[in-house]
Amino acid sequence: MGQHCRPGETIPALTYHGRFAPSPTGPLHFGSLISAVASYARARSLSGRWSVRMENTDHTREVTGAARQILSQLESFGMVSDTPVIFQRERYARYGAVLAGLKTRGLAYDCGCTRKALDEKGRYPGICRDGLPHDAMARAVRLLTPDEVVAFEDTRLGCHGENVWQQAGDFAVLRADGVYAYQLVVVVDDADLGITEVVRGIDILTSTPRQILLQRYLGVQSPAYLHHPVAVHAPGHKLSKSEGSATISGQNPVNALMAAWEFLGQSAPPGLPRSVAEFWAHAERAFRLEQLPKENEIIWRQGIQPT
Ligand code: GLU
Repeated sequence: MGQHCRPGETIPALTYHGRFAPSPTGPLHFGSLISAVASYARARSLSGRWSVRMENTDHTREVTGAARQILSQLESFGMVSDTPVIFQRERYARYGAVLAGLKTRGLAYDCGCTRKALDEKGRYPGICRDGLPHDAMARAVRLLTPDEVVAFEDTRLGCHGENVWQQAGDFAVLRADGVYAYQLVVVVDDADLGITEVVRGIDILTSTPRQILLQRYLGVQSPAYLHHPVAVHAPGHKLSKSEGSATISGQNPVNALMAAWEFLGQSAPPGLPRSVAEFWAHAERAFRLEQLPKENEIIWRQGIQPT
């Protein structure tokens, strides 16, 4: 898809600001630790800032106490947000205002359809674009998507583009259950925080063109994107929180950090670091983009032994 990326599309920022955005659906596990370590190491290696955001808009999936647990696990791994931690649940007024603006400009519209209206590919073909049927009630709000490729330059993968209309159709920005959709809140939060590069798993790659489309509608600058490989227990199956191999122990944080570091293809320090601080002193200097694995999925059976 190289033909869709134009040189100079990604504007390098003067001050690097990265982020880690866990969903509090359970404690940090090996899959999310990889994202935390990759984003933190990248930010520190560029003397930049790093922020944590709790993605807790979806109250149906939130596990009580998980947000606090994730923050304390991150702290034991030596990763502390440089800015006050954002909790999305506290930002509903902001998301509502952005959504209202999109609707006023005719870029988003009320939709009265149920899931049955999705076509066989699971995309929404724009049935309510010209208004709700007279007997229908507004359920969700959807974004008007153009039938064109939205492309971006991924820091690891190079040019990647997708036709959002063909892939997803007019995707929801407010879900039928009243929850602001992930695509909308991520874009608003990344822009408000001034994030210059998003480092996250390749499993979210298809969301990125949707988010870039929203950034264009909102007139905000797109950050750079770096999608790292994800750990799977079998091809196509991400490590799940219930997987024994995904569990990380807070008792030996250096082991867990070293496992994530190895997963990311980075050079090991000469000996096993004696502390988290020693690990990061090495990691900040040693992190190299070009050493990130070329694969998108890596089978991870090793596990991290609690000690
Ligand atoms: N909250 C998402 C997750 O935990 C990550 C979203 C993002 O990094 O944009 O998978």
